[in-house]
Amino acid sequence: MKLTLKIKMRTLTRRKEKMLIEAMSEFKACVNEWLKAIDELGEEPNRGNLHSFAYQRIREKFNLHSNVIQDAMNLALEIWRSWNGREKPKFNSNCIYFKGVDVKIENDGLVVPLRPRERVYLPLYVRKYHRRYLQYKHGRVTITKDREDFYACISVKVPEKKPFKPQGFLGVDFGYYNIIVVADERGREVMRFQGDELIQRKEYYEKLRARRQQRLMSIFGIKDKDLGHKDRNYVNNLNHKIAKELVLTAKRMRKAIVIEKLKGVKKNRNAKKIRKILHRWSYYNLIQKIKYKAKLEGVPVIEVSPRNTSKTCSNCGFIYKNFKNQRLFHCPNCGLIIDRDLNASINIARKGLEEYKKRALLPLKGETSNL
Ligand SMILES: [Zn+2]
Repeated sequence: MKLTLKIKMRTLTRRKEKMLIEAMSEFKACVNEWLKAIDELGEEPNRGNLHSFAYQRIREKFNLHSNVIQDAMNLALEIWRSWNGREKPKFNSNCIYFKGVDVKIENDGLVVPLRPRERVYLPLYVRKYHRRYLQYKHGRVTITKDREDFYACISVKVPEKKPFKPQGFLGVDFGYYNIIVVADERGREVMRFQGDELIQRKEYYEKLRARRQQRLMSIFGIKDKDLGHKDRNYVNNLNHKIAKELVLTAKRMRKAIVIEKLKGVKKNRNAKKIRKILHRWSYYNLIQKIKYKAKLEGVPVIEVSPRNTSKTCSNCGFIYKNFKNQRLFHCPNCGLIIDRDLNASINIARKGLEEYKKRALLPLKGETSNL
């Protein structure tokens, strides 16, 4: 499985920072120069004919390491090949790409070629969980600038574990009132992360941001994005924590994780409300994290249809068509009163069991996840 680690760069010396900023803007211009060359080439471009057509000329024009000039060429070819045929492609990102072999990762930093015949060491804030993945072979490295900070995006190939044969199922409900509620197929609650306190914190940040923005807007006429950034980190860290605990619990219990396919959400009458909540907690991000952590730990993941999972009584199977997402599910058939999210997660666990019985467990397809 391929993962991309995004690691913040430590503060650079003035000289290095200047060099890096210059190299980034040169790289952008260089990729565009290659795109122009492809246009002038007049035949189907490939590494061979393009290189002999323009390399000498482009190399003289830019103050970049020869390897970087070739990386720019490869990127230009990639851009050209994914071109939609309409307006001419232009490269406009503030970043610099390096092929895996051009980058050395050592002493918690990168050694990259920037200027001709010059390699530079760029120190990174390597965290414990980064270190775990950095032991594997790395591929392409991209350096980007986001506001005042530089980041290195390092792609690594991480070996997957073969999923174990599950001895039970954990249904995960991405909650309406809770972030997640997890239950097994026998109806026992296994885990719950409540959202209330966290939502309060988020709302506090939102209010603070609105106030700050208003003030800044009135004084300088500018927008403030800093708190949004903090907020995103907060959700990201929280998602890491939740996903980790879920996957390790499933591993310990030798149970498969069962989640709903999110596609069905659109058809729901409450789609707008649910989408808002989905957005709010970056569920997509959380699901990605659960999937890749499960893959790393060899925990099987089963996706089931979300149809009626919140409207079915987990005790008698009655489908309560008019259920309106109240906090409690009260079954008109058998009288069961149960927490809405718990009821849904039990149903999801059972759907996972059915799905598992129906067909041999399919491993998740290879997909790239972001850390
Ligand atoms: Zn019932």
